[in-house]
Amino acid sequence: MQAILHRWVRLRAARRRPQAAGPSNPRGDRSPGRGGSPMLREKNTFTPSVPLGAVHVYRANVPVWQSVAHWFQELVLQVKCKFDVRSNRQAATSPNTIEERAMHKGSCLCGAVRFEVTGTLPPPDACHCTQCRKQSGHFFASTDVPRAALTIHGADRLTWFRSSEKVRRGFCSTCGSSLFWDPIKKDWIGVAMGAFDPPTDTRRRIHIYVGEKGDYYDIVDGLPQNQH
Ligand SMILES: [Zn+2]
Ligand SMILES: [Zn+2]
Repeated sequence: MQAILHRWVRLRAARRRPQAAGPSNPRGDRSPGRGGSPMLREKNTFTPSVPLGAVHVYRANVPVWQSVAHWFQELVLQVKCKFDVRSNRQAATSPNTIEERAMHKGSCLCGAVRFEVTGTLPPPDACHCTQCRKQSGHFFASTDVPRAALTIHGADRLTWFRSSEKVRRGFCSTCGSSLFWDPIKKDWIGVAMGAFDPPTDTRRRIHIYVGEKGDYYDIVDGLPQNQH
């Protein structure tokens, strides 16, 4: 019994030592692998954690039940390693994970119209033109996002007002919130910054149409100002 225990201890020590360089292990090292398991080497290939010779000696000198138990233990570890690699890869590349990280949501005041924008929000501009002032009640800050990045829920509750030949403006039919500035033939659309739920993770970059701004306020934030 003592001899078996000694052999077991030696075998455990051999498994923990780095393998010597040789034909079966030209790099002479072991990489922990993505799953953090010592059984994984680079490129996620599986190699026996015990040299074949050691397995042979071990099996020849221990009871059959111990060999079977050892084989089963190895099998469980290998299955676990494969599972770890697969789940780590999925976590790193899953499109759902990427989209959730860069998703921005918003709504009108009453909640009948909700929307989502995927991807980061480009720095918004603040438009002080007469149309924006009258539609929004002040000036209109909006971010221009790719049309394909915008999803609208409750679109049937939106009203579109054609404010010019090329542009329509969308607002909630129930509460009147100004939500969208839509240049119909472009592949992008302006979304009202005030309708987003925080955090927006962006900052206003410029004032435009300042020549038409209201006379009851000053622009003092130091950002660039365009007359148009
Ligand atoms: Zn509403
Ligand atoms: Zn405007």
